[in-house]
Amino acid sequence: MGTVVEVTVAHQSEETARTAMGAAFDEIERIDLLLSGHRSQSLVSKINNEGALRPVPVGPELYPLFVAARGYGRESDGAFDVTVGVVSRIWKFEPGGVVPDPAEAARALAKVGYDGLLLDDSAQSVGFARDGMAIDLGAIAKGWAVDRAIDRLKSLGIESAIIDAGGDLRLIGTRPGKRSWRIGIQHPREQGSLIASLDLADTAVVTSGDYERFFVADGVRYHHILDPATGRPASGCRSVTVIAPTAMEADACATAAFVLGPQRGIAFLRARPGVRGMIVDAAGALHWTDAALEREAHR
Ligand code: ADP
Ligand code: MG
Repeated sequence: MGTVVEVTVAHQSEETARTAMGAAFDEIERIDLLLSGHRSQSLVSKINNEGALRPVPVGPELYPLFVAARGYGRESDGAFDVTVGVVSRIWKFEPGGVVPDPAEAARALAKVGYDGLLLDDSAQSVGFARDGMAIDLGAIAKGWAVDRAIDRLKSLGIESAIIDAGGDLRLIGTRPGKRSWRIGIQHPREQGSLIASLDLADTAVVTSGDYERFFVADGVRYHHILDPATGRPASGCRSVTVIAPTAMEADACATAAFVLGPQRGIAFLRARPGVRGMIVDAAGALHWTDAALEREAHR
């Protein structure tokens, strides 16, 4: 998934903790093999290669992930859209990157639209309504993998843990002897410093930002969170932090709110039960879903 995964487990028995951490890493790796768009053998590659020809059965484990992805697409008015695959493929968000040729970009954008994602509940299959479409699960797969690894830890009796997949975190319980875990939120412009810290327990917290994968050309920052309406990087935010019951929901909602921009993004988050968050807008100003969260945050 192109990121570093850290697993922290607290348990009286070091052996139990080590076994559990191993199981969590194995689970993340298993999911990476299935969902990576860069591996030719992955399920996602199979869907992208064959999905326009025939529906690809994905099985009972993964089918709900695709249903959830389509749901976030609908609920965000297309701000979140896993069919951005053809567009994300033509950008390279790394130093030295270049803005794609406008004609190529327009052709790619014509292939985007979650309404073209065909999901068949009885066959549990995924296909495309139109030729040349592609999915990219980059905005939801990490969260989903973290949730599955958390399930593994819980099934092994772990009651205190953190899994952090490059800013996609989920917590079990609290830090031993404390009432919470203290989670630092990366400052979007000051590398290595925090914009805030939050005391959280038994929840997921995910931050999406324009500082993770980007390049600068002619003074403009081009980063990896795309507005599916334009095919270009979304411009309203620097970062979005979302607290939600699952890492999948927090991951998808962070990306959706980022694309929606500070005002619509906050409204989108507020409308979701059990979801809270904070947005750093393009000018660096902070927006919160609720005053209580703002009060609780350590600045
Ligand atoms: P990160 O991976 O840094 O945590 P995100 O969760 O926001 O950030 O995911 C960004 C990735 O998701 C991109 O690299 C791309 O693969 C994909 N993506 C980009 N824009 C969108 C979008 N509007 N909807 C869904 N997926 C997107
Ligand atoms: Mg995301």
